[in-house]
Amino acid sequence: MKIYEKSRVKLADAKQVLAGGVASTLRGSMKPTPLYVESASGVIVKDVDGNEYIDYQLAYGPLILGHAHTGFNAKVSEAMAKGITYGLQHDGEIELARRLTEVLPCADKVVLSGSGTEAVMLALRLSRAYTGKSKVVRFHGHYHGWSDSIFTSFPSPDMMQKATSAAANSVPPGTKGQSELSLQDVILLPWNDPEQLESTLREHAGSIAAVITEPVMCNSGCILPEPGYLEKMRELTRELNIVLIFDEVITGFRLSPGGAHGRFGMTPDLVTVGKALGGGIAVSAVGGRKEIFELIDSEQVSHLGTLNGNGVATSAALAVLELLTQNDAAVYGTMEGHAVQLASGIRSLFGKHGMRGVVNQIGPVFHMMFIDEDVVTHFDTFQKRNAARYAKFAELMLEEGVLVRPNGLWYLSTVHEAGHIESTLAAIDRVFARLTEGN
Ligand code: PMP
Repeated sequence: MKIYEKSRVKLADAKQVLAGGVASTLRGSMKPTPLYVESASGVIVKDVDGNEYIDYQLAYGPLILGHAHTGFNAKVSEAMAKGITYGLQHDGEIELARRLTEVLPCADKVVLSGSGTEAVMLALRLSRAYTGKSKVVRFHGHYHGWSDSIFTSFPSPDMMQKATSAAANSVPPGTKGQSELSLQDVILLPWNDPEQLESTLREHAGSIAAVITEPVMCNSGCILPEPGYLEKMRELTRELNIVLIFDEVITGFRLSPGGAHGRFGMTPDLVTVGKALGGGIAVSAVGGRKEIFELIDSEQVSHLGTLNGNGVATSAALAVLELLTQNDAAVYGTMEGHAVQLASGIRSLFGKHGMRGVVNQIGPVFHMMFIDEDVVTHFDTFQKRNAARYAKFAELMLEEGVLVRPNGLWYLSTVHEAGHIESTLAAIDRVFARLTEGN
């Protein structure tokens, strides 16, 4: 049995002065207790009780190079020695912007920001200014940050049944304290449903500024778009003068150097990226068509932020892009190979232990769930998973020295090795045996 005593004591201490005890609400739900970290290197995280874990949570996505990568750290330290931020211009901004326009196929130009939430806020603002319209279509199960104008809670299956038309559609706020008026422009639709998308867009074309989508629904089940669905979305939005935004905060630089749209050969009007871009340092970007960015060139749309484009952020992003793209076929091939090995290994273990489950995988990311279904292609099916059982699984995996998110999403990095994958599968085998004990 692992001991988590020091983490427990620290949480109690934190709660005296830090509201909620943790720095981002989601982290508080970790069982048996939110962990306090002593240090981390490569894929190994060491907590304050001396326990070590192979990390597949990777700070919720940013650590595509793992922890404390030496090449990355050297570049960022070099930049820090020249001054962290100036509130003035410097070469790093131009270099990063140019590099982003090279790797992101849809980006003629970019803007730099600090977080995924801010990038989405700007993309929505640009869409409204560009089209002169105000409504935004978003989808059940997707997450686009926590700003008031887009943050919704995930609806219950019951509510989804009721939400069959845009008119009957009520959009649940994501949190108490959020003005309901802030969501009045949001139309919430089921994803992977081309008919409903088409009828809603045609009916409300005169008032819809943007459709925002994760190109792969990583936040709920790592569900892939059904063949032709994103293409249909692209055709309709183009025809109806609606800005198509791909929120690639998770998929950006992860599914390929050019993200999901690069991998799928698609061209959204705007793309938002963050997480992996900074390798753990706060930086995000919006990329897209130059006609839309003319609104910023002409100062009709404001884009602000004290720390935007700071030297640490730009050097971090440039280092990530360099390390990912200097031998991209090998780098992405290895990450994906490990994800495939884990996903297929987990499927075999479901069989071995007589358990029902699904693993949806693409590139170096996958979602594992316990569910009585053979495939999960829609959010309403995903909602039927046994989330409590998965949370127990994640807790038991900690005991085995493997750190996974309690919600089922796994990330691979460039520094996971074959040995990590093998020992992880052996750990899952033991945990499945414990989960099925007595059943
Ligand atoms: N969009 C997507 C698709 C995300 O997954 C996230 C974060 N999980 C965000 C936006 C918000 O990013 P951040 O947490 O950096 O504000």
